[in-house]
Amino acid sequence: MALKLYNTLSRKKEFFKPLKDKKVNLFVCGPTTYDFSHLGHARTYVVFDMIAKYLKEKGYKVFYVQNITDIDDKIITRAIKKKVFWKDLSRKFEKEYLKDMKALNINSVTKYARATAHIKEIISQVNRLLKKGFAYQIKDGIYFDISKFKDYGKLSRRTVWQAEDAVSRIDTAEEKRNKGDFCLWKFSKTGEPSWPFDSLRSLKVKAGRPGWHIEDTAITEKYFGSQYDIHGGARDLIFPHHEAEIAQMEAISGKKPLVKYWLHSGFLTVKGKKMAKSLGNFITIRDFLNRYSARILRLFVIKTHYRSPIDYDEKAILQTKRELKRIDEFINKLKNRASITELLKEAKVRRG
Ligand SMILES: [Zn+2]
Repeated sequence: MALKLYNTLSRKKEFFKPLKDKKVNLFVCGPTTYDFSHLGHARTYVVFDMIAKYLKEKGYKVFYVQNITDIDDKIITRAIKKKVFWKDLSRKFEKEYLKDMKALNINSVTKYARATAHIKEIISQVNRLLKKGFAYQIKDGIYFDISKFKDYGKLSRRTVWQAEDAVSRIDTAEEKRNKGDFCLWKFSKTGEPSWPFDSLRSLKVKAGRPGWHIEDTAITEKYFGSQYDIHGGARDLIFPHHEAEIAQMEAISGKKPLVKYWLHSGFLTVKGKKMAKSLGNFITIRDFLNRYSARILRLFVIKTHYRSPIDYDEKAILQTKRELKRIDEFINKLKNRASITELLKEAKVRRG
């Protein structure tokens, strides 16, 4: 049976056909490494692990890349608060993240790509955006001009004006051309981590660090080229993050679409509210695994359609625990039966 996927870009179920033969290039947004991951993250990564494994099972060759945001304002702020070097903090939580993924049997990712290992590619993209007139420099950094990109809003179905309202709360640089313009390269203040910027033009660009959205397109361009098959992530990343990715890469390459199938997973909620660090209603993967097995968590996630919300509560976990036990018992019975059948066959052969 042909596989169909719901594509956020078209808001339709579409037949799945990779760009090239049976090869699937898959990218999923990875963690920002400043703290332990919680069950909301676990849901996203279990879902895309399942999808990658399903595709492999169906004979596709899956090249699965995930980025690690190892430089970011959150990391810098947390490091200052904890009085540690930002890189030590970032590496520590990258290690913890990978440990959690291993414990959850999430092993389908081909390549984890750190943002700081792709500064050269990021600068190259910013330079090309400057050259093509999609980016401009102001006092605190280089920004993407969303009014220059005609297709802006096609993934999230927002207009530039709606986008402005949503972003203005987060980003308040006064000199920006449009409120919704997002940062590509942020100039570093004294004492902050920074990388030199090799500018293509006579323009002098100060040392700084990459904005969040540009690392993903720099990484995917390096490993997949300017177009690829599947981009995944939790649904809260549709805007502004994934919208920004489309704007950046399609502006640079002139080719569209950047991604053929956009897949977004539903939230893990607690009493109907999204599990989030900012809401303080989270349970870390580590804490969960101290009490229950990884298989319980995987079944808990997988038994619900990946786009639907899942409400987390203790009762639902205990229910899943019982379900898993029944499945295991059933498999054991089948195995026993299979071995009995084998024995009978052997006996028959010997007798014959
Ligand atoms: Zn991302």
